[in-house]
Amino acid sequence: MKKHVIIVGGGFAGINLIKSLRNDSRFRVTLVDKNNYHFFPPLIYQVATSFIEASNISYPFRKLISKYDNIHFHMGNLLKVHSESKTIETDTGNLKYDYLVLALGTEPNFFGMENVKRYALPMKNIEEALYLRNYMLLNLEEAARNKDVKAAEKLQNVVIAGGGPTGVELAGMLAEMGRYIAEKEYPEIKLGLSNLYLIDTLPNLLSSMSEMAQETAYQTLEKLGVKILLNVSVKDYADGKVILSDGKTIPTETLIWTSGVIGREVPGLPEKSIDRGRRILVDGYNKVLGTENIYALGDICLQLTEKEYPKGHPQLAQVAIQQAKNLGNNFKRIEDEKVLNPFRYNNKGSMAIISKFNAVVDLPKFSFKGFIAWLTWLFIHILPLVGFRNKIRLALEWLRLFITNNPSIRLILYPKRNNTSK
Ligand SMILES: Cc1cc2nc3c(=O)[nH]c(=O)nc-3n(C[C@H](O)[C@H](O)[C@H](O)COP(=O)(O)OP(=O)(O)OC[C@H]3O[C@@H](n4cnc5c(N)ncnc54)[C@H](O)[C@@H]3O)c2cc1C
Repeated sequence: MKKHVIIVGGGFAGINLIKSLRNDSRFRVTLVDKNNYHFFPPLIYQVATSFIEASNISYPFRKLISKYDNIHFHMGNLLKVHSESKTIETDTGNLKYDYLVLALGTEPNFFGMENVKRYALPMKNIEEALYLRNYMLLNLEEAARNKDVKAAEKLQNVVIAGGGPTGVELAGMLAEMGRYIAEKEYPEIKLGLSNLYLIDTLPNLLSSMSEMAQETAYQTLEKLGVKILLNVSVKDYADGKVILSDGKTIPTETLIWTSGVIGREVPGLPEKSIDRGRRILVDGYNKVLGTENIYALGDICLQLTEKEYPKGHPQLAQVAIQQAKNLGNNFKRIEDEKVLNPFRYNNKGSMAIISKFNAVVDLPKFSFKGFIAWLTWLFIHILPLVGFRNKIRLALEWLRLFITNNPSIRLILYPKRNNTSK
């Protein structure tokens, strides 16, 4: 009897677990995802800023699994886990499992601020990145038409909340877009896209990285004209103004939210297995506390068993990938009646690109910055892309873009139809 493994979520964790089980005929695996494609979040900001196409960093699940007889795909949204009947309920049908693996990742955390939730622009997936791209391009068009100087300026002010790697990378790229594109192609407007604010509650940008990385990010972005506000948080977003904790306000039509995440909700799990940031508590083998045969991987889980990580692991791609590989091996060890291996995180470092030709890299033993760091960043971000064609296409596209400074995909597209039939 083959064991039926259901994996909900085809992000880094989900597809790496599939890789581990795809040639093992003892398992029948069903991947459940609300989208029909895998995508690469670290490069989402380049889609949002019209730098690269969404297809450069996405890959259809069915193509990914088509060579493997024991892997299947079910497109659907997880609604509830029914552990007593070992079933999951999705909006497209119910499925029975022997092992259930939850790898649904996170969603933006707006910290209870209703206006921010309603009007700020998150950037966590392809749809949000494309929406943001359209939104900023439309604002530039409106600013170019608007004769009222104050209203036009408000349209050009862009506020980014969150000074982690995503906020820093986005600020750097928008500042350069302002310089290379908006000033050239939108002669009617004064500021282009370069009136940028980057806000963080903490005293430093890139707070999880080295002091060198923090200072480099600050100095480089400041030189590019980004207004960096630290030790201050967004309190509200009302009447077209971002309201800060120090009482100051910034008039803007664009508040981009990269300021924290919360685990996706999974109804049906025991209440005591949900911890801070709505992360699912797991043991050292990624099994959800208080359940049988249910596991959680990656950003959505909280594993407090490694003494070097008393508050849990950072929500990074490498953690998700390594946990998935370990769980895949453990599923095989269960079948072989062998002792299971607990998860141990191998920290390979972190990095952020700040501007063209300038990045910072923190390795476990040393840090470096500048052009070599930038080349390292490019290389490291091409390697894990799914699909050989995607890797080559992106490498060539980057080469062209960095030489010409002129991405040409600034298209405002709204896919829609007017009748209501399917
Ligand atoms: C903008 C951005 C930049 C980042 N940059 C970096 C970086 O440079 N380096 C780094 O290490 N990490 C980075 N991260 C973090 C990294 O992307 C995550 O740690 C990693 O994606 C976690 O993998 P995961 O498999 O747990 O979840 P995800 O990759 O988020 O995958 C979750 C999957 O679940 C699916 N899903 C969600 N809800 C449902 C549902 N209800 N039903 C069915 N399917 C569902 C989604 O469609 C998705 O396919 C970044 C994240 C973001 C958002």
